[in-house]
Amino acid sequence: MTFPLPFKTRRESIAVPVGNITIGGSAPVVIQSMTNTDTADEIATAIQIAELASSGSELVRITVNNAEAAAAVPGIKARLKHMGINVPLVGDFHFNGHKLLTQYPECAQALDKYRINPGNVGRGKKRDEQFATMIEFAIRYNKPVRIGVNWGSMDQELLARLMDENAQLTEPKDPKDVMFETVIRSAIDSAKQAEEIGLGKDKIILSCKMSDVQDLVTVYREMAQRCDYALHLGLTEAGMGSKGIVASTAALAILLHEGIGDTIRISLTPEPGASRTKEVIVAQEILQTMGLRAFVPLVTACPGCGRTTSSYFQELAEKIQNYLREKMPEWKNKYQGVESMSVAVMGCVVNGPGESKHANIGISLPGNGEKPVAPVYEDGEKTVTLKGDHIAEEFQALVNHYIERTYSKH
Ligand code: SF4
Repeated sequence: MTFPLPFKTRRESIAVPVGNITIGGSAPVVIQSMTNTDTADEIATAIQIAELASSGSELVRITVNNAEAAAAVPGIKARLKHMGINVPLVGDFHFNGHKLLTQYPECAQALDKYRINPGNVGRGKKRDEQFATMIEFAIRYNKPVRIGVNWGSMDQELLARLMDENAQLTEPKDPKDVMFETVIRSAIDSAKQAEEIGLGKDKIILSCKMSDVQDLVTVYREMAQRCDYALHLGLTEAGMGSKGIVASTAALAILLHEGIGDTIRISLTPEPGASRTKEVIVAQEILQTMGLRAFVPLVTACPGCGRTTSSYFQELAEKIQNYLREKMPEWKNKYQGVESMSVAVMGCVVNGPGESKHANIGISLPGNGEKPVAPVYEDGEKTVTLKGDHIAEEFQALVNHYIERTYSKH
């Protein structure tokens, strides 16, 4: 079977060092996230960055929207250092970035990367001047930038010009295509402009975020063909809960499968009071289920059906997945490769033994009307049959034992 893919393997892009990590080139796809605290609140922001970094975010973006936020950035960086957190920080600038970088040089120095939205830099002649000021700071402090277009804040002057040009054509294009062209040109033309000012190509990352899955795929396929800058992927305004997760996954999976994308962010709206780290876990799960990276052992579990009389096996699957995630920070320093382990928790004998055999370690719980026994398979072989009231604890002990003897210690 053949697929009409533009890239059979990862698209080649220019590697961009950002703090202690690299985006693009042959580096693995990097996960990033963004805080939702008031950046001026140094303590709250540093705590949230630490949470995001601890959950696996490899880059964290903070808004730098006013003088108080810019003034707080060096303090946030210092607090993180004190906590032993060395995650690169990205400053998100809109409208007044040129002023803030000029007035707060310690902020310009403390950040590891600047995000510039070409649609929010200024209007008319000021646009070029203000954009140039920000790029000059990036050059002075040797910082990379993301030129991040968002279709919700598109460069309106460029859009108007391209619409006018389109109207002159004997066969004008669909206005939606002109909109796509505007976001792409806004990103690529701004990158060229930054290069003309003196910013290296290895200091530029591009993004063109859209909120519709098909639009995002269309725009990124085109971007990937037209340039070799590293690309940041993300569906903007993805939404809450399952909608946000599904829409982001649908869009990013298509592009990542085609080899497009060097760094990703999942723009989930958290449920009230919920942890911001959900977006990091979703990003990890996308990359891991696509076989691009491994972060934590994943549990394969069946959905359950009329053959399962209780929620016992669902609880066991959840308990094991939570246990694996909780233990991972400790294990990753002790057991090499444990993040690739697969664990199966199945509800009955229909698919249970088969799925368990495919996992590194799997358990098939007794279904409705079956003997109350739970066979365990390790590396495809049945090793033990559990029964009684402590199956969960005994299976967890078997998982621990499997890890200890299978994954070599560093
Ligand atoms: S493995 Fe058994 S319990 Fe699970 S969905 Fe299939 S038939 Fe139902």
